[in-house]
Amino acid sequence: MSSGCLFCGIVGGEVPANLVAEGDEWVAFRDIDPRAPSHVLVVPRRHVATLDDLAEEDDALVGALVRAAAEIARDEGLVEGGYRLVFNCGAGAGQSVYHIHLHLLGGRKFSWPPG
Ligand code: AMP
Repeated sequence: MSSGCLFCGIVGGEVPANLVAEGDEWVAFRDIDPRAPSHVLVVPRRHVATLDDLAEEDDALVGALVRAAAEIARDEGLVEGGYRLVFNCGAGAGQSVYHIHLHLLGGRKFSWPPG
C-alpha cells in the first residue's frame, strides 16, 4: 500500500470502482474513461509504480495479471473479435497512474501501431 496512490485506494476499498473480478494478487475494475466498449484495468494488490520497478521475483505476479486479463476477455466475449493488452510505462508512453495496470481493451477494431 502506497499512501496517496489512487489504485492502492481502489484495491483497499477506500476509493469506489466498478469491480469486474479479483484474485489473490490482483483486482480488475472498469476504466473510468473507457477507450473501447470493454476497457478493464487489471492491477496488482501490491504497489509497484512502473514496469521499470519490476524484479525477477515479480515474474509470477506479471503472469497472473496477463492470465487474469485473458480470462476476463473470455468472460466478456472478446476473444472472437480480438482484444488488446497494454502496459504504459512512463509519462512519454502515456502512464498517468503510477501503480502498474494492464489495460484490457476490446469490442472494436484497433489500428497498428498504436498512437
Ligand atoms: P495510464 O494512462 O496507462 O496510466 O492509465 C490510467 C487509466 O486509469 C486511465 O485509462 C484512466 O482513465 C484510468 N482511471 C483513472 N482514474 C480512475 C478511477 N478512479 N477508476 C477507474 N479508472 C481510472
